Amino acid sequence: MITLKGAEVSVKIKEQVQEILAGHDGPAPKLAIVRVGENPDDMSYERGAMKKMEAFGLRVQSYVFPADMEDGAFKEAFKAINEDEDVNGILLLRPLPKQICEKDIENMIDPRKDLDGISPANIAKVFAGDTEGFAPCTAEAVIEVLKANEIPISGKKVTIVGRSMVVGKPLSMLMLKENATVTICHTRTADLPCECRQAEILVAAAGRAKMLNGDYVGQDAIVIDVGINVDENGKLCGDVDFDTITDKASMATPVPGGVGAVTTAVLAKHLARTIR
Ligand code: NDP
Repeated sequence: MITLKGAEVSVKIKEQVQEILAGHDGPAPKLAIVRVGENPDDMSYERGAMKKMEAFGLRVQSYVFPADMEDGAFKEAFKAINEDEDVNGILLLRPLPKQICEKDIENMIDPRKDLDGISPANIAKVFAGDTEGFAPCTAEAVIEVLKANEIPISGKKVTIVGRSMVVGKPLSMLMLKENATVTICHTRTADLPCECRQAEILVAAAGRAKMLNGDYVGQDAIVIDVGINVDENGKLCGDVDFDTITDKASMATPVPGGVGAVTTAVLAKHLARTIR
């Protein structure tokens, strides 16, 4: 089984970013990372995103607000970032604390700065197959992993486990755009192992540590693991029980070191695209 490494895909995306920026005068585009509170997962994602922007020659600034900030005060602060001409793109770390209405922020964010595809305008574009907007970075990262490794998608049977608005649903639309035949699974799927075994490309985005073992993988399938979980020993792991699929899958992404590393590279590519 071949391990599909995220770092190698990230290098290819860096080249694309450099091509987009070639000949661009003036300061590099700037990402604003907006965080409310001190959630360790958010802070870890923020550190990774900051490192990636800097490595790709892009500007980044994080805006941190207290966890108990009032809805009105946050909206005022967010509006200022949204309207700041020096800010080209925004990454909002979610979920927000419950006193802040997340829906309102999704409606407020300028779609041209909405790099992670949370605004209704960008979601509509993803569902319409219009590539001019911004798709959620993780969903697009799955497509990037396949393309960077020259894995054909057109005509393939793709099964996605998970139907969230962040990963499963937008990814199903991106796969359709690539002419895959898509099956979406969730907690009410009647026979999940059977659905998964049909897949030529299996994408795990359920958020359940090591849930998909070798019984879920068809012979020679390609397995993309989006999950980021912590196992019983406190170690980072995916949704796939990696050691049990090595005789079945032809290729698979590891966790860590797989899709996660590509997600921030896609974010950087989206930021670079704001200059056009
Ligand atoms: P959600 O919890 O929002 O969605 C999980 C989805 O998986 C739901 O649709 C749920 O079904 C389905 N699901 C959960 N358990 C099962 C099960 N036992 N059988 C079948 N389906 C199941 O998670 P997200 O989409 O936000 O994230 C998914 C995973 O991806 C997480 O581990 C998360 O940490 C990771 N992630 C990784 C990123 C990266 O950069 N690599 C970025 C974002 C997320 P139902 O709808 O029926 O409840």
